[in-house]
Amino acid sequence: MSGQSDLELVNKKGIRLDGRKAGELRNIKIEAGVLENADGSAYVEIGKNKVRAAVYGPRECHPRHLQDPTKAIIQCKYNMMAFSVSDRKRPGPDRRSVEISKIIAEALEAVVLTELYPRASIDVYIEILQANAGTRCAGLTAASVALADAGIPMKDIIPAVAVGKADGKVLLDLNKEEDNFGQADVPLALIPKTNEIVLLQMDGNMTRDEFDKAIEMGVAACHEIYELQKDALRRRYSAALKDGDSNE
Ligand code: ADP
Repeated sequence: MSGQSDLELVNKKGIRLDGRKAGELRNIKIEAGVLENADGSAYVEIGKNKVRAAVYGPRECHPRHLQDPTKAIIQCKYNMMAFSVSDRKRPGPDRRSVEISKIIAEALEAVVLTELYPRASIDVYIEILQANAGTRCAGLTAASVALADAGIPMKDIIPAVAVGKADGKVLLDLNKEEDNFGQADVPLALIPKTNEIVLLQMDGNMTRDEFDKAIEMGVAACHEIYELQKDALRRRYSAALKDGDSNE
């Protein structure tokens, strides 16, 4: 987020480098139940981002000192693969991945009925296979589908998207160039049934009016992503039902 570049991120006709208009999402693909050995899983592509999420649990919480006698805890590990970015990236956790794991777990805690599983742990693994800005949002979008696929009781599924500002324009779903050279990046996540925002961060600067416009854009886009999440789960379970029929 430098806010400075010779690149024209939005042209005079209001078209962005990847051909989108200001309020347009990148292409999104969501699949539920992609891994045989996880309790729940999902695969998400948002533009060039490719993300896989796997859920295990509820299972006995280890280490035991983390157990909570009143509810399950959600342990999340967000990891960017060493080959996920064009620059050289050291494999393994760093400060950024620790922060992202924490905010994703906190967002999920707002919807998962953790009180049903005292002393348990629900483990969520998010692997970023390919990154092009907005990976925390793609990761959270995938993780909530994976939790639903695992049959874990939740109040709702969480969609997430980043909004922001580049070349002085408020934009939806920033790509890498807009994230790197734009003026603001605001990832947000939503509980669609109540419109409650469960993740909101901000890097850079915007005016109050621009911020309001960005949030409005982001909330509307989250409702679009929500439909795709539900559709992925429907496809998963209608396929499972068909398999069940043919096995009889
Ligand atoms: P998000 O992916 O949620 O937008 P950031 O704003 O921190 O998170 O990162 C923006 C983008 O910058 C990432 O999606 C990725 O494309 C790139 N990026 C992040 N960390 C690294 C890194 N360590 N090395 C190379 N590129 C990175």
